[in-house]
Amino acid sequence: MTDAYLGLGANLGDRLATLSQALRLVDELPGTHVVYVSAVYETEPWGVADQPDFANLVAQIRTSLAADQLLGGLQDIENSLGRVRGERYGARTIDIDILLFGDEEWNSDSLTIPHPRLLEREFALVPLLEIAPDACLPDGSPFPREGAVHGRITRTLGALPGFEDRAVIPAAFASESYPTEGAEWVEVASSTPVGRIDRAPDLELLFLQSVLEAEGIPFAYDPFAPTESFNPWGLTRTVRLLVPPLYAERARRLLAQAAAATPEFPQQ
Ligand code: AMP
Repeated sequence: MTDAYLGLGANLGDRLATLSQALRLVDELPGTHVVYVSAVYETEPWGVADQPDFANLVAQIRTSLAADQLLGGLQDIENSLGRVRGERYGARTIDIDILLFGDEEWNSDSLTIPHPRLLEREFALVPLLEIAPDACLPDGSPFPREGAVHGRITRTLGALPGFEDRAVIPAAFASESYPTEGAEWVEVASSTPVGRIDRAPDLELLFLQSVLEAEGIPFAYDPFAPTESFNPWGLTRTVRLLVPPLYAERARRLLAQAAAATPEFPQQ
């Protein structure tokens, strides 16, 4: 069995329905199971600008197929969902890429793994790091974090309908009014350039989340209700991470350490 990561994108028709249907079909490929699904990220078009916004996500699958067999299955799914192959980087009903396939490298005419544009596409890298903060390149090296910026990502559209149970941070993205009862807020400041205050989630936050995740601390956050303030670093958006009371003290300590070790984060 191989753990592989797929990048999916859609920008025509009912994008969420298409992404859900595509993942259901991936789940039905022989020997293949969808394990985790990232939030859906809305992204301004890449390459060809004059087209609708994309909805992108990354899914982790476990499969007994070989990578080239998997590619064949994914292309059948693209075709069955009505993808018309046209302009390169142009509008498409659905696009499914193999980003990583275990620690295998492929370099054939039809298949390149890791996906050659993975590192330069924030709409692949950010959702990948959301569900797999420890993911590595085939040679074991970690992903360069510099590429994981907002870039063309404008917002999240929440968990993928039908796959909420396979979200890694379900409560964080699933609803706009995450229930706060019985939980304690831990506040983390995250700087956001002026004019882009609507952009979520913040990448810094994803890393801070991964700090908590690595320690097994459950958490959620509401990217839809930030508070904004001006300070010496400019406009700062404060995002609240939600941690159960039992974990709050440890979480605060870890987050403070992480912020202190990362000079570009504004200190609180
Ligand atoms: P696109 O039109 O961007 O979906 O590109 C599709 C073509 O990319 C197909 O002909 C595939 O054979 C090729 N390809 C190469 N590497 C990959 C990969 N890692 N995942 C998906 N398609 C790939």
